[in-house]
Amino acid sequence: MAHVYENAYFKDKVVPITDAQVSVASSAVLYGLSVYTVFRVSHTPKGLAAFRLGDHYRRLVNSARIIGLDTFEPAWSYQKFEDAVHAVLNANTILGDVFVRATVHASDMVPGTRSRGVATTVSIFIYDATPILSGEGVRLKTSVWRRVPDYAIPSRAKVNGAYVNSVLAKQDALDSGYDDCIFLDAAGHVCELSAANIFMVRDGVLITPDTTSDLLEGITRRTVLELASVMGIKVIERGIDLTELYIADEVFASGTSALIAPISVVDARVIGTGTVGPITARIREVYMYSMQGDDSMYEHYLTYMSHNM
Ligand code: PMP
Repeated sequence: MAHVYENAYFKDKVVPITDAQVSVASSAVLYGLSVYTVFRVSHTPKGLAAFRLGDHYRRLVNSARIIGLDTFEPAWSYQKFEDAVHAVLNANTILGDVFVRATVHASDMVPGTRSRGVATTVSIFIYDATPILSGEGVRLKTSVWRRVPDYAIPSRAKVNGAYVNSVLAKQDALDSGYDDCIFLDAAGHVCELSAANIFMVRDGVLITPDTTSDLLEGITRRTVLELASVMGIKVIERGIDLTELYIADEVFASGTSALIAPISVVDARVIGTGTVGPITARIREVYMYSMQGDDSMYEHYLTYMSHNM
């Protein structure tokens, strides 16, 4: 389990993480009715920097909008969000790079199965940035569980309760001796992993499922698309058949917590040479570099945070 830092943000102030508690009678607990995001904060020459904080805030707002949690957005401007992140970072001694998890919990007690008008409480806590997937080659199994479709529980919204779908699929993969799953939609097209987006390389072209493919609109996914075009790599967003992955030259996963993770095996088939492919390696290098704050070219991705070093 990851090391969680001792101070969190909860109900408009910094508190010990043990005091950051939502009620067992809240919709957050009863129905998993909460939305969240996780972003990275890295040590840079100019201090701590959050990666694409504005995009994470916007996705949180959009998740709340989709679900109809309408008390969050009026109470939480971007500036308030950034200030809260500042406050919680300042309240801890941040040693390595960290992940920051911000959640909007539906906190009213027993309001019934509805969202509009239900009170919300924001929590923000910090934990070590330990990647969830290996950087050496991840083995994937097609899940027996299909991805929740947009017309049931939208994957575009990062809703806590929807992660039961990810838990089922990831556990199925682990039970079968794999590292993670590939989710397919009802028609058999590739969506994503349990907590990361997916890319493949065929004949030098970088291809990823388009955003109507029942996936989370990953901020790392968007970053990869942006970096690849700057690097002169051709990118296409389109539907992907499962068997295309089997014959791809390279496959990799992307995510804040997954970083850029090369895929070595899909359903017992070795991908490409079974090692980290050249395009995956280049993208991973530039992505990691873009978070380090050494280059003005990627400065627009970073929000600098005061720190206590
Ligand atoms: N898909 C799912 C289901 C996820 O949980 C995540 C992790 N947030 C991602 C994709 C990757 O999103 P991001 O790049 O914004 O971390």
